[in-house]
Amino acid sequence: MADPKGFLTTTREEPKRRPVDLRLMDWREVYEDFATTKLQKQAGRCMDCGIPFCHQGCPLGNLIPEWNTLTWREDWQQAIERLHATNNFPEFTGTLCPAPCETACVLGINDDPVTIKRVEISIIDRAFDEGWVTPQVPATKTGKKVAVVGSGPSGLAAAQQLTRAGHSVVVLERADKIGGLLRYGIPEFKMEKARLDRRLDQMRAEGTEFRTSVNVGVDLPASELLAYDAVVLAGGATDWRDLPIPGRELDGIHQAMEFLPPANRVASGELTESPYSAAGLDVVVIGGGDTGADCVGTSHRQGARSVTQLEIMPKPPESRSDAHPWPTYPMIYRVSSAHEEGGERLYAVNTQEFLGDSDGRVRALKLVEVRNEGGKFVPVPGTERELPAQLVLLAMGFLGPQKQGLLEDLGVELDARGNVARDQAFKTSLDNVFVAGDMGRGQSLIVWAIAEGRSAAAGVDAYLTGRDVLPRPIAPTDRPIA
Ligand SMILES: Cc1cc2nc3c(=O)[nH]c(=O)nc-3n(C[C@H](O)[C@H](O)[C@H](O)COP(=O)(O)OP(=O)(O)OC[C@H]3O[C@@H](n4cnc5c(N)ncnc54)[C@H](O)[C@@H]3O)c2cc1C
Ligand code: SF4
Repeated sequence: MADPKGFLTTTREEPKRRPVDLRLMDWREVYEDFATTKLQKQAGRCMDCGIPFCHQGCPLGNLIPEWNTLTWREDWQQAIERLHATNNFPEFTGTLCPAPCETACVLGINDDPVTIKRVEISIIDRAFDEGWVTPQVPATKTGKKVAVVGSGPSGLAAAQQLTRAGHSVVVLERADKIGGLLRYGIPEFKMEKARLDRRLDQMRAEGTEFRTSVNVGVDLPASELLAYDAVVLAGGATDWRDLPIPGRELDGIHQAMEFLPPANRVASGELTESPYSAAGLDVVVIGGGDTGADCVGTSHRQGARSVTQLEIMPKPPESRSDAHPWPTYPMIYRVSSAHEEGGERLYAVNTQEFLGDSDGRVRALKLVEVRNEGGKFVPVPGTERELPAQLVLLAMGFLGPQKQGLLEDLGVELDARGNVARDQAFKTSLDNVFVAGDMGRGQSLIVWAIAEGRSAAAGVDAYLTGRDVLPRPIAPTDRPIA
Protein backbone atom coordinates (compact mmCIF):
# COMPACT_ATOMS: atom_id res chain seq x y z
CA MET A 1 0.00 0.00 0.00
CA ALA A 2 1.07 3.58 -0.61
CA ASP A 3 0.71 6.09 2.25
CA PRO A 4 -1.63 4.39 4.79
CA LYS A 5 -3.17 7.75 5.70
CA GLY A 6 -2.80 9.48 2.35
CA PHE A 7 -6.47 9.36 1.49
CA LEU A 8 -7.26 11.03 4.83
CA THR A 9 -4.56 13.69 4.86
CA THR A 10 -4.24 14.69 1.19
CA THR A 11 -6.91 16.19 -1.04
CA ARG A 12 -7.07 15.62 -4.77
CA GLU A 13 -4.94 18.06 -6.74
CA GLU A 14 -4.33 18.31 -10.46
CA PRO A 15 -1.82 20.42 -12.39
CA LYS A 16 -3.09 23.82 -13.49
CA ARG A 17 -3.94 24.56 -17.08
CA ARG A 18 -1.85 27.33 -18.66
CA PRO A 19 -3.58 30.74 -18.78
CA VAL A 20 -6.18 30.81 -21.55
CA ASP A 21 -4.86 33.89 -23.35
CA LEU A 22 -1.38 32.34 -23.49
CA ARG A 23 -2.38 28.88 -24.61
CA LEU A 24 -4.63 30.24 -27.36
CA MET A 25 -1.46 31.63 -28.94
CA ASP A 26 0.03 28.19 -29.51
CA TRP A 27 -0.93 24.54 -30.11
CA ARG A 28 0.98 23.04 -27.19
CA GLU A 29 -0.62 20.84 -24.52
CA VAL A 30 -2.56 22.91 -22.02
CA TYR A 31 -1.28 21.57 -18.68
CA GLU A 32 1.52 23.10 -16.64
CA ASP A 33 4.19 20.90 -15.09
CA PHE A 34 3.30 19.18 -11.82
CA ALA A 35 5.93 18.96 -9.08
CA THR A 36 7.12 15.39 -8.41
CA THR A 37 6.52 15.80 -4.68
CA LYS A 38 2.89 16.74 -5.33
CA LEU A 39 2.45 13.82 -7.71
CA GLN A 40 3.83 11.37 -5.14
CA LYS A 41 1.37 12.64 -2.57
CA GLN A 42 -1.45 12.16 -5.06
CA ALA A 43 -0.33 8.58 -5.76
CA GLY A 44 -0.22 8.12 -1.98
CA ARG A 45 -3.99 8.68 -1.79
CA CYS A 46 -4.50 5.21 -3.32
CA MET A 47 -5.99 2.91 -0.66
CA ASP A 48 -4.83 -0.33 -2.37
CA CYS A 49 -8.37 -1.67 -2.02
CA GLY A 50 -8.96 -5.39 -1.59
CA ILE A 51 -11.08 -5.28 -4.74
CA PRO A 52 -9.67 -2.48 -6.89
CA PHE A 53 -12.66 -1.43 -8.97
CA CYS A 54 -10.36 0.84 -11.00
CA HIS A 55 -9.19 -2.41 -12.68
CA GLN A 56 -12.75 -2.99 -13.86
CA GLY A 57 -13.05 0.62 -15.04
CA CYS A 58 -9.89 0.37 -17.17
CA PRO A 59 -10.37 -1.85 -20.26
CA LEU A 60 -6.63 -2.56 -20.26
CA GLY A 61 -6.81 -3.83 -16.68
CA ASN A 62 -3.99 -1.46 -15.76
CA LEU A 63 -2.42 -2.48 -12.41
CA ILE A 64 -3.24 0.89 -10.91
CA PRO A 65 -2.70 0.31 -7.15
CA GLU A 66 0.66 -1.34 -7.91
CA TRP A 67 2.06 1.62 -9.80
CA ASN A 68 0.50 4.12 -7.43
CA THR A 69 2.45 2.47 -4.60
CA LEU A 70 5.67 2.35 -6.66
CA THR A 71 5.28 6.03 -7.57
CA TRP A 72 4.74 6.96 -3.94
CA ARG A 73 7.93 5.05 -3.08
CA GLU A 74 9.82 6.80 -5.90
CA ASP A 75 10.53 3.48 -7.60
CA TRP A 76 9.81 4.93 -11.05
CA GLN A 77 11.60 2.18 -12.97
CA GLN A 78 9.45 -0.56 -11.46
CA ALA A 79 6.42 1.65 -11.94
CA ILE A 80 6.94 1.88 -15.71
CA GLU A 81 7.60 -1.85 -15.86
CA ARG A 82 4.21 -2.53 -14.24
CA LEU A 83 2.50 0.08 -16.41
CA HIS A 84 3.94 -1.29 -19.65
CA ALA A 85 2.91 -4.79 -18.57
CA THR A 86 -0.68 -3.94 -19.54
CA ASN A 87 -0.47 -0.81 -21.70
CA ASN A 88 1.71 -0.38 -24.80
CA PHE A 89 1.15 3.37 -24.96
CA PRO A 90 0.56 5.02 -21.57
CA GLU A 91 1.47 8.39 -23.09
CA PHE A 92 -1.63 8.21 -25.33
CA THR A 93 -4.01 7.22 -22.55
CA GLY A 94 -2.24 9.41 -19.98
CA THR A 95 -3.06 12.46 -22.08
CA LEU A 96 -6.31 11.47 -23.84
CA CYS A 97 -8.21 8.90 -21.81
CA PRO A 98 -11.45 10.06 -20.16
CA ALA A 99 -10.26 7.89 -17.26
CA PRO A 100 -13.14 5.52 -16.52
CA CYS A 101 -10.77 4.11 -13.88
CA GLU A 102 -11.22 7.30 -11.84
CA THR A 103 -15.02 7.17 -11.90
CA ALA A 104 -14.68 3.55 -10.66
CA CYS A 105 -12.14 4.42 -7.91
CA VAL A 106 -13.41 3.26 -4.49
CA LEU A 107 -12.23 6.50 -2.89
CA GLY A 108 -14.65 8.26 -5.24
CA ILE A 109 -17.63 6.83 -3.36
CA ASN A 110 -17.36 9.47 -0.65
CA ASP A 111 -14.41 11.64 -1.70
CA ASP A 112 -12.60 12.79 -4.85
CA PRO A 113 -10.99 9.83 -6.65
CA VAL A 114 -7.25 9.31 -7.04
CA THR A 115 -5.72 11.25 -9.98
CA ILE A 116 -4.87 7.98 -11.73
CA LYS A 117 -4.43 9.43 -15.20
CA ARG A 118 -2.01 12.08 -13.92
CA VAL A 119 0.12 9.41 -12.22
CA GLU A 120 0.09 7.38 -15.45
CA ILE A 121 1.39 10.19 -17.67
CA SER A 122 4.00 11.16 -15.08
CA ILE A 123 5.38 7.59 -14.97
CA ILE A 124 5.78 7.32 -18.74
CA ASP A 125 7.16 10.85 -19.11
CA ARG A 126 9.77 10.06 -16.47
CA ALA A 127 10.62 6.77 -18.19
CA PHE A 128 11.22 8.48 -21.54
CA ASP A 129 13.28 11.23 -19.86
CA GLU A 130 15.45 8.63 -18.09
CA GLY A 131 15.96 6.55 -21.25
CA TRP A 132 14.14 3.51 -19.84
CA VAL A 133 11.88 3.09 -22.87
CA THR A 134 14.10 1.02 -25.12
CA PRO A 135 13.32 -1.25 -28.10
CA GLN A 136 12.29 -4.79 -27.13
CA VAL A 137 13.65 -6.74 -30.06
CA PRO A 138 12.42 -10.36 -30.17
CA ALA A 139 15.09 -13.02 -29.46
CA THR A 140 13.77 -15.34 -32.17
CA LYS A 141 11.72 -14.85 -35.32
CA THR A 142 8.82 -17.10 -36.29
CA GLY A 143 9.12 -16.58 -40.04
CA LYS A 144 5.44 -15.57 -40.20
CA LYS A 145 4.36 -12.39 -42.00
CA VAL A 146 1.52 -10.22 -40.71
CA ALA A 147 -0.07 -7.16 -42.37
CA VAL A 148 -1.87 -4.61 -40.19
CA VAL A 149 -4.17 -2.23 -42.11
CA GLY A 150 -4.50 1.09 -40.31
CA SER A 151 -2.11 2.80 -37.92
CA GLY A 152 -4.37 4.14 -35.18
CA PRO A 153 -3.93 2.99 -31.57
CA SER A 154 -5.48 -0.45 -32.24
CA GLY A 155 -3.27 -1.16 -35.25
CA LEU A 156 -0.17 0.09 -33.45
CA ALA A 157 -0.90 -2.01 -30.34
CA ALA A 158 -1.48 -5.14 -32.44
CA ALA A 159 1.68 -4.44 -34.46
CA GLN A 160 3.84 -3.95 -31.39
CA GLN A 161 2.57 -7.09 -29.68
CA LEU A 162 3.05 -9.21 -32.82
CA THR A 163 6.50 -7.81 -33.64
CA ARG A 164 7.64 -8.54 -30.10
CA ALA A 165 6.23 -12.08 -30.46
CA GLY A 166 8.68 -12.63 -33.33
CA HIS A 167 6.49 -12.11 -36.39
CA SER A 168 7.45 -9.86 -39.33
CA VAL A 169 4.86 -7.08 -39.20
CA VAL A 170 4.12 -4.42 -41.79
CA VAL A 171 1.63 -1.62 -41.05
CA LEU A 172 -0.16 -0.25 -44.13
CA GLU A 173 -1.65 3.26 -43.78
CA ARG A 174 -3.47 5.33 -46.40
CA ALA A 175 -2.55 8.68 -44.83
CA ASP A 176 0.88 10.12 -45.44
CA LYS A 177 1.87 9.77 -41.78
CA ILE A 178 1.36 7.05 -39.18
CA GLY A 179 -0.99 7.44 -36.21
CA GLY A 180 -4.65 7.30 -37.27
CA LEU A 181 -6.82 9.70 -35.28
CA LEU A 182 -3.89 10.31 -32.92
CA ARG A 183 -2.13 12.07 -35.82
CA TYR A 184 -4.72 14.03 -37.77
CA GLY A 185 -7.93 13.88 -35.70
CA ILE A 186 -6.92 14.75 -32.15
CA PRO A 187 -5.46 18.26 -31.85
CA GLU A 188 -1.94 18.98 -30.71
CA PHE A 189 -3.24 20.86 -27.64
CA LYS A 190 -4.64 17.55 -26.32
CA MET A 191 -1.60 15.44 -27.23
CA GLU A 192 1.57 16.75 -28.82
CA LYS A 193 2.57 14.64 -31.83
CA ALA A 194 6.13 14.39 -30.51
CA ARG A 195 4.75 11.77 -28.09
CA LEU A 196 3.55 9.69 -31.04
CA ASP A 197 6.78 10.08 -33.03
CA ARG A 198 8.85 9.02 -30.04
CA ARG A 199 6.85 5.80 -29.70
CA LEU A 200 7.03 5.11 -33.44
CA ASP A 201 10.84 5.34 -33.24
CA GLN A 202 10.77 2.59 -30.63
CA MET A 203 8.51 0.44 -32.81
CA ARG A 204 10.73 0.86 -35.88
CA ALA A 205 13.78 -0.12 -33.84
CA GLU A 206 11.93 -3.24 -32.72
CA GLY A 207 11.39 -4.21 -36.36
CA THR A 208 7.84 -3.07 -37.20
CA GLU A 209 7.75 -1.81 -40.79
CA PHE A 210 5.52 1.14 -41.71
CA ARG A 211 4.25 1.91 -45.21
CA THR A 212 2.26 5.12 -45.69
CA SER A 213 0.09 6.38 -48.59
CA VAL A 214 -1.19 2.85 -49.26
CA ASN A 215 -4.99 2.77 -49.42
CA VAL A 216 -5.70 -0.95 -49.24
CA GLY A 217 -8.61 -1.87 -51.50
CA VAL A 218 -7.82 1.12 -53.73
CA ASP A 219 -4.05 1.41 -54.34
CA LEU A 220 -3.41 -2.19 -53.36
CA PRO A 221 -5.98 -4.91 -54.16
CA ALA A 222 -7.26 -6.33 -50.89
CA SER A 223 -6.72 -9.82 -52.33
CA GLU A 224 -2.95 -9.22 -52.11
CA LEU A 225 -3.32 -9.04 -48.34
CA LEU A 226 -4.34 -12.67 -48.25
CA ALA A 227 -0.78 -13.62 -49.25
CA TYR A 228 0.28 -12.70 -45.70
CA ASP A 229 0.10 -15.42 -43.06
CA ALA A 230 -2.33 -13.22 -41.13
CA VAL A 231 -3.98 -9.82 -41.51
CA VAL A 232 -5.31 -7.42 -38.87
CA LEU A 233 -7.92 -4.94 -40.08
CA ALA A 234 -7.63 -1.79 -37.95
CA GLY A 235 -9.09 0.84 -40.26
CA GLY A 236 -11.24 2.63 -37.67
CA ALA A 237 -14.86 3.84 -37.89
CA THR A 238 -14.48 6.68 -40.35
CA ASP A 239 -17.98 6.77 -41.87
CA TRP A 240 -19.22 10.05 -40.43
CA ARG A 241 -22.86 10.91 -39.65
CA ASP A 242 -24.27 13.72 -41.81
CA LEU A 243 -27.14 16.18 -41.34
CA PRO A 244 -29.28 16.03 -44.51
CA ILE A 245 -31.50 19.07 -43.89
CA PRO A 246 -32.33 21.96 -46.24
CA GLY A 247 -29.25 24.04 -47.03
CA ARG A 248 -26.73 21.27 -46.40
CA GLU A 249 -25.22 21.94 -49.85
CA LEU A 250 -24.16 25.50 -48.91
CA ASP A 251 -20.47 26.41 -48.79
CA GLY A 252 -18.95 26.64 -45.33
CA ILE A 253 -20.51 23.47 -43.87
CA HIS A 254 -17.94 20.78 -43.17
CA GLN A 255 -17.48 17.58 -41.25
CA ALA A 256 -15.26 17.78 -38.14
CA MET A 257 -12.90 15.32 -39.78
CA GLU A 258 -12.59 17.60 -42.83
CA PHE A 259 -11.79 20.55 -40.54
CA LEU A 260 -9.44 18.99 -37.95
CA PRO A 261 -6.82 17.25 -40.16
CA PRO A 262 -5.65 20.38 -42.04
CA ALA A 263 -5.66 22.30 -38.75
CA ASN A 264 -3.35 19.63 -37.33
CA ARG A 265 -1.15 19.90 -40.39
CA VAL A 266 -0.84 23.66 -39.85
CA ALA A 267 0.05 23.07 -36.19
CA SER A 268 2.78 20.60 -37.18
CA GLY A 269 4.16 22.84 -39.94
CA GLU A 270 3.07 20.55 -42.81
CA LEU A 271 0.68 23.22 -44.17
CA THR A 272 0.92 27.01 -44.00
CA GLU A 273 -2.83 27.63 -44.01
CA SER A 274 -5.98 25.55 -43.58
CA PRO A 275 -8.56 25.67 -46.40
CA TYR A 276 -11.27 25.70 -43.68
CA SER A 277 -9.95 28.30 -41.25
CA ALA A 278 -12.30 29.75 -38.62
CA ALA A 279 -10.41 33.07 -38.53
CA GLY A 280 -12.79 35.99 -38.10
CA LEU A 281 -15.93 33.83 -38.46
CA ASP A 282 -18.92 32.93 -36.32
CA VAL A 283 -18.50 29.19 -35.90
CA VAL A 284 -21.24 26.75 -34.95
CA VAL A 285 -20.27 23.21 -33.98
CA ILE A 286 -23.13 20.72 -34.15
CA GLY A 287 -22.55 17.90 -31.67
CA GLY A 288 -21.77 18.22 -27.98
CA GLY A 289 -19.13 15.48 -27.66
CA ASP A 290 -15.35 15.38 -27.57
CA THR A 291 -14.91 15.73 -31.32
CA GLY A 292 -17.05 18.85 -31.10
CA ALA A 293 -14.88 20.15 -28.24
CA ASP A 294 -11.79 19.60 -30.41
CA CYS A 295 -13.44 21.77 -33.09
CA VAL A 296 -14.17 24.44 -30.45
CA GLY A 297 -10.54 24.55 -29.22
CA THR A 298 -9.20 24.56 -32.78
CA SER A 299 -11.57 27.36 -33.86
CA HIS A 300 -10.47 29.53 -30.93
CA ARG A 301 -6.81 29.03 -31.86
CA GLN A 302 -7.57 29.95 -35.48
CA GLY A 303 -9.11 33.24 -34.30
CA ALA A 304 -12.88 32.66 -34.60
CA ARG A 305 -15.10 35.65 -33.82
CA SER A 306 -17.56 33.50 -31.88
CA VAL A 307 -17.95 29.76 -31.24
CA THR A 308 -21.22 28.06 -30.30
CA GLN A 309 -21.58 24.32 -29.68
CA LEU A 310 -25.02 22.76 -30.08
CA GLU A 311 -26.28 19.64 -28.34
CA ILE A 312 -29.68 18.05 -28.84
CA MET A 313 -29.67 16.43 -25.37
CA PRO A 314 -30.56 18.47 -22.28
CA LYS A 315 -27.75 19.84 -20.12
CA PRO A 316 -26.45 16.99 -17.93
CA PRO A 317 -26.41 17.30 -14.12
CA GLU A 318 -23.33 18.66 -12.29
CA SER A 319 -22.85 15.41 -10.35
CA ARG A 320 -23.87 11.75 -10.61
CA SER A 321 -27.56 11.08 -10.88
CA ASP A 322 -29.22 7.86 -9.72
CA ALA A 323 -29.20 6.73 -13.36
CA HIS A 324 -25.38 6.60 -13.30
CA PRO A 325 -24.34 5.23 -9.89
CA TRP A 326 -20.74 4.48 -8.90
CA PRO A 327 -18.71 2.77 -10.47
CA THR A 328 -20.19 3.62 -13.90
CA TYR A 329 -18.84 6.44 -16.06
CA PRO A 330 -21.51 9.08 -15.38
CA MET A 331 -23.10 11.49 -17.80
CA ILE A 332 -22.30 14.79 -16.05
CA TYR A 333 -21.56 18.35 -17.09
CA ARG A 334 -17.83 18.52 -17.85
CA VAL A 335 -15.72 21.57 -18.71
CA SER A 336 -12.92 20.52 -21.05
CA SER A 337 -9.95 22.78 -21.68
CA ALA A 338 -11.58 23.85 -24.97
CA HIS A 339 -14.76 24.92 -23.17
CA GLU A 340 -12.75 26.85 -20.62
CA GLU A 341 -11.26 28.85 -23.49
CA GLY A 342 -14.54 30.50 -24.45
CA GLY A 343 -17.64 30.10 -26.56
CA GLU A 344 -21.11 29.05 -25.60
CA ARG A 345 -22.82 25.69 -25.29
CA LEU A 346 -26.52 25.43 -26.14
CA TYR A 347 -28.44 22.34 -24.97
CA ALA A 348 -31.74 20.82 -26.06
CA VAL A 349 -31.65 22.48 -29.48
CA ASN A 350 -32.00 21.10 -32.98
CA THR A 351 -31.04 22.56 -36.34
CA GLN A 352 -33.94 22.69 -38.82
CA GLU A 353 -32.26 24.39 -41.75
CA PHE A 354 -29.05 26.05 -42.95
CA LEU A 355 -29.66 29.52 -44.39
CA GLY A 356 -27.44 30.89 -47.17
CA ASP A 357 -26.43 34.23 -48.67
CA SER A 358 -26.64 35.22 -52.33
CA ASP A 359 -23.20 33.66 -53.01
CA GLY A 360 -24.31 30.23 -51.80
CA ARG A 361 -22.43 30.43 -48.51
CA VAL A 362 -23.95 29.58 -45.17
CA ARG A 363 -24.91 32.68 -43.16
CA ALA A 364 -27.04 31.27 -40.32
CA LEU A 365 -28.75 28.22 -38.81
CA LYS A 366 -32.45 27.98 -38.09
CA LEU A 367 -32.65 26.54 -34.58
CA VAL A 368 -35.48 25.27 -32.46
CA GLU A 369 -35.58 24.15 -28.84
CA VAL A 370 -36.60 20.51 -28.37
CA ARG A 371 -37.98 18.35 -25.59
CA ASN A 372 -37.90 14.59 -25.22
CA GLU A 373 -41.33 13.02 -25.66
CA GLY A 374 -41.38 9.23 -25.48
CA GLY A 375 -37.77 8.96 -26.66
CA LYS A 376 -38.25 11.42 -29.56
CA PHE A 377 -37.03 15.01 -29.71
CA VAL A 378 -39.96 17.23 -30.63
CA PRO A 379 -39.74 20.97 -31.39
CA VAL A 380 -41.04 23.40 -28.77
CA PRO A 381 -43.46 25.68 -30.69
CA GLY A 382 -42.49 29.34 -30.83
CA THR A 383 -38.79 28.80 -30.03
CA GLU A 384 -37.47 29.01 -33.61
CA ARG A 385 -34.62 31.47 -34.12
CA GLU A 386 -31.63 32.21 -36.32
CA LEU A 387 -28.03 31.81 -35.17
CA PRO A 388 -25.40 33.53 -37.36
CA ALA A 389 -22.71 31.20 -38.71
CA GLN A 390 -20.27 31.48 -41.58
CA LEU A 391 -18.60 28.17 -40.67
CA VAL A 392 -20.56 25.12 -39.51
CA LEU A 393 -18.79 21.99 -38.29
CA LEU A 394 -20.65 18.69 -38.04
CA ALA A 395 -19.42 16.57 -35.13
CA MET A 396 -22.24 14.09 -34.73
CA GLY A 397 -20.30 10.85 -34.46
CA PHE A 398 -19.54 8.02 -36.82
CA LEU A 399 -21.75 5.28 -38.24
CA GLY A 400 -19.03 2.62 -38.44
CA PRO A 401 -16.26 1.58 -40.82
CA GLN A 402 -16.26 2.61 -44.46
CA LYS A 403 -17.54 -0.27 -46.56
CA GLN A 404 -16.31 0.72 -50.01
CA GLY A 405 -12.73 -0.22 -50.86
CA LEU A 406 -11.10 -2.48 -48.29
CA LEU A 407 -14.14 -4.23 -46.74
CA GLU A 408 -16.16 -4.72 -49.93
CA ASP A 409 -13.06 -5.87 -51.78
CA LEU A 410 -12.24 -8.44 -49.10
CA GLY A 411 -15.85 -9.54 -48.68
CA VAL A 412 -15.75 -9.85 -44.86
CA GLU A 413 -19.08 -10.29 -43.09
CA LEU A 414 -20.49 -7.37 -41.08
CA ASP A 415 -22.48 -7.52 -37.85
CA ALA A 416 -25.96 -6.05 -37.35
CA ARG A 417 -24.48 -2.60 -36.59
CA GLY A 418 -22.38 -2.54 -39.75
CA ASN A 419 -19.05 -3.19 -38.00
CA VAL A 420 -16.77 -6.06 -39.05
CA ALA A 421 -18.07 -9.26 -37.45
CA ARG A 422 -15.58 -11.34 -35.43
CA ASP A 423 -15.43 -14.39 -33.21
CA GLN A 424 -14.04 -14.63 -29.68
CA ALA A 425 -10.47 -14.66 -31.07
CA PHE A 426 -11.14 -11.42 -33.06
CA LYS A 427 -11.14 -13.46 -36.31
CA THR A 428 -13.43 -12.30 -39.12
CA SER A 429 -15.40 -14.51 -41.51
CA LEU A 430 -12.18 -14.96 -43.53
CA ASP A 431 -9.74 -17.59 -42.35
CA ASN A 432 -6.57 -15.57 -41.71
CA VAL A 433 -8.12 -12.09 -41.29
CA PHE A 434 -8.64 -10.52 -37.85
CA VAL A 435 -10.13 -7.16 -36.84
CA ALA A 436 -9.32 -4.72 -34.03
CA GLY A 437 -10.41 -1.33 -32.75
CA ASP A 438 -13.25 0.88 -33.97
CA MET A 439 -13.54 -1.19 -37.17
CA GLY A 440 -14.89 -4.11 -35.13
CA ARG A 441 -16.30 -2.31 -32.05
CA GLY A 442 -17.68 0.87 -33.62
CA GLN A 443 -16.69 4.38 -32.53
CA SER A 444 -15.02 4.11 -29.13
CA LEU A 445 -11.99 5.32 -27.16
CA ILE A 446 -8.23 5.03 -27.34
CA VAL A 447 -8.00 2.85 -24.26
CA TRP A 448 -10.45 0.38 -25.85
CA ALA A 449 -8.54 0.52 -29.14
CA ILE A 450 -5.27 -0.41 -27.42
CA ALA A 451 -7.03 -3.21 -25.51
CA GLU A 452 -8.56 -4.43 -28.79
CA GLY A 453 -5.15 -4.40 -30.51
CA ARG A 454 -3.61 -6.42 -27.68
CA SER A 455 -6.42 -8.99 -27.65
CA ALA A 456 -6.48 -9.32 -31.45
CA ALA A 457 -2.71 -9.85 -31.42
CA ALA A 458 -3.23 -12.72 -28.97
CA GLY A 459 -5.75 -14.23 -31.40
CA VAL A 460 -3.34 -13.86 -34.34
CA ASP A 461 -0.40 -15.30 -32.42
CA ALA A 462 -2.43 -18.33 -31.32
CA TYR A 463 -3.64 -18.83 -34.91
CA LEU A 464 -0.09 -18.66 -36.31
CA THR A 465 1.77 -20.68 -33.68
CA GLY A 466 -0.78 -22.71 -31.71
CA ARG A 467 0.54 -21.21 -28.45
CA ASP A 468 -1.45 -19.09 -25.99
CA VAL A 469 0.98 -16.62 -24.46
CA LEU A 470 -0.07 -13.07 -25.29
CA PRO A 471 -2.45 -11.16 -22.99
CA ARG A 472 -6.14 -10.73 -23.91
CA PRO A 473 -7.37 -7.82 -21.77
CA ILE A 474 -10.84 -7.83 -23.33
CA ALA A 475 -13.22 -10.07 -25.25
CA PRO A 476 -14.78 -8.61 -28.43
CA THR A 477 -18.14 -8.36 -26.67
CA ASP A 478 -16.90 -6.58 -23.51
CA ARG A 479 -18.45 -3.17 -22.93
CA PRO A 480 -17.96 -0.38 -20.31
CA ILE A 481 -19.53 -0.93 -16.87
CA ALA A 482 -23.13 0.26 -17.22
C1 LIG B 1 -11.68 14.19 -33.40
C2 LIG B 1 -11.63 13.01 -32.49
C3 LIG B 1 -11.15 13.17 -31.20
C4 LIG B 1 -11.08 12.08 -30.35
N1 LIG B 1 -10.58 12.28 -29.10
C5 LIG B 1 -10.47 11.22 -28.26
C6 LIG B 1 -9.93 11.40 -26.97
O1 LIG B 1 -9.58 12.50 -26.56
N2 LIG B 1 -9.81 10.31 -26.17
C7 LIG B 1 -10.18 9.05 -26.59
O2 LIG B 1 -10.03 8.09 -25.83
N3 LIG B 1 -10.70 8.87 -27.82
C8 LIG B 1 -10.85 9.92 -28.67
N4 LIG B 1 -11.39 9.73 -29.91
C9 LIG B 1 -11.71 8.36 -30.35
C10 LIG B 1 -10.41 7.61 -30.71
O3 LIG B 1 -9.56 8.46 -31.43
C11 LIG B 1 -10.71 6.35 -31.53
O4 LIG B 1 -11.59 5.53 -30.78
C12 LIG B 1 -9.44 5.57 -31.82
O5 LIG B 1 -8.49 6.36 -32.51
C13 LIG B 1 -9.75 4.32 -32.66
O6 LIG B 1 -8.55 3.70 -32.98
P1 LIG B 1 -8.43 2.75 -34.25
O7 LIG B 1 -7.04 2.25 -34.26
O8 LIG B 1 -9.50 1.72 -34.20
O9 LIG B 1 -8.75 3.64 -35.52
P2 LIG B 1 -8.23 5.06 -36.06
O10 LIG B 1 -7.49 5.82 -35.03
O11 LIG B 1 -9.42 5.68 -36.68
O12 LIG B 1 -7.19 4.65 -37.19
C14 LIG B 1 -7.59 3.98 -38.35
C15 LIG B 1 -6.55 4.18 -39.43
O13 LIG B 1 -6.80 3.29 -40.50
C16 LIG B 1 -6.51 3.94 -41.71
N5 LIG B 1 -7.21 3.24 -42.78
C17 LIG B 1 -8.56 3.07 -42.90
N6 LIG B 1 -8.83 2.35 -44.02
C18 LIG B 1 -7.64 2.09 -44.61
C19 LIG B 1 -7.27 1.40 -45.79
N7 LIG B 1 -8.18 0.86 -46.60
N8 LIG B 1 -5.96 1.30 -46.11
C20 LIG B 1 -5.01 1.86 -45.30
N9 LIG B 1 -5.31 2.53 -44.17
C21 LIG B 1 -6.60 2.64 -43.82
C22 LIG B 1 -7.02 5.35 -41.47
O14 LIG B 1 -6.41 6.27 -42.38
C23 LIG B 1 -6.57 5.59 -40.04
O15 LIG B 1 -5.27 6.13 -40.00
C24 LIG B 1 -11.51 10.80 -30.79
C25 LIG B 1 -12.02 10.64 -32.07
C26 LIG B 1 -12.10 11.74 -32.93
C27 LIG B 1 -12.66 11.56 -34.31
S1 SF4 C 1 -5.80 3.82 -19.53
FE1 SF4 C 1 -7.52 5.19 -19.00
S2 SF4 C 1 -8.86 3.90 -17.75
FE2 SF4 C 1 -6.85 2.85 -17.84
S3 SF4 C 1 -5.71 3.57 -16.02
FE3 SF4 C 1 -5.18 4.94 -17.71
S4 SF4 C 1 -6.58 6.67 -17.54
FE4 SF4 C 1 -7.44 4.99 -16.33
